[in-house]
Amino acid sequence: MARYNGPKCRLCRREGEKLYLKGTRCESEKCAMNKKAYAPGQHGNTRGRLSEYGKQLREKQKVKRIYGLLEKQFNTYVQEALRVKGVSGEVLMQQLETRLDTAVYRSGFAVSRAQARQFIRSNIFTVNGKPVNIPSYRVKVGDIIKPVSFDKIQLREGFVMPDWLTANVTERYVKFTRMPTLEDLSENINVQLIIEFYSR
Ligand code: SF4
Repeated sequence: MARYNGPKCRLCRREGEKLYLKGTRCESEKCAMNKKAYAPGQHGNTRGRLSEYGKQLREKQKVKRIYGLLEKQFNTYVQEALRVKGVSGEVLMQQLETRLDTAVYRSGFAVSRAQARQFIRSNIFTVNGKPVNIPSYRVKVGDIIKPVSFDKIQLREGFVMPDWLTANVTERYVKFTRMPTLEDLSENINVQLIIEFYSR
């Protein structure tokens, strides 16, 4: 599938906040947001206030970039969230959080979602004992995510597992125990702006 292969730090600078796309570098002094916390380009640090549409657009772009998705795939998730009964914003975030690449990243098995995708494609993960090499695979409540090998996995320093996942340290697996709610998600995301963008 097509994917953005340009400089990742540029995406953070464009959104004006850390999106944590480069693993350990994001926590280090080398993070580009420490030195150039303004949008890239000639007029990057002189941009004016955003219109309502501009705010919605930027929020949508930010979330797409955090989860490493292209427009078509992101749009599919949004359209599905709009069709499903429930709070569309929460349904959208749950769809994103149940992607296997995100669950692997949240489990602490990868330093970034990009690395999680790489590991999954290299057949390092199983779900309920069966090999899965599709990053967009949807995990369900009760599913068990387990690496077949820990050779490439470096556990993240200071990592805290979110409440909706539970680690079994002896068996070295993580269980997806419940659906996350909007309150659970720590990123600074205004999902309502995204729903408004697609409901225009
Ligand atoms: Fe974003 Fe990480 Fe680059 Fe910092 S190092 S700008 S958080 S991708």
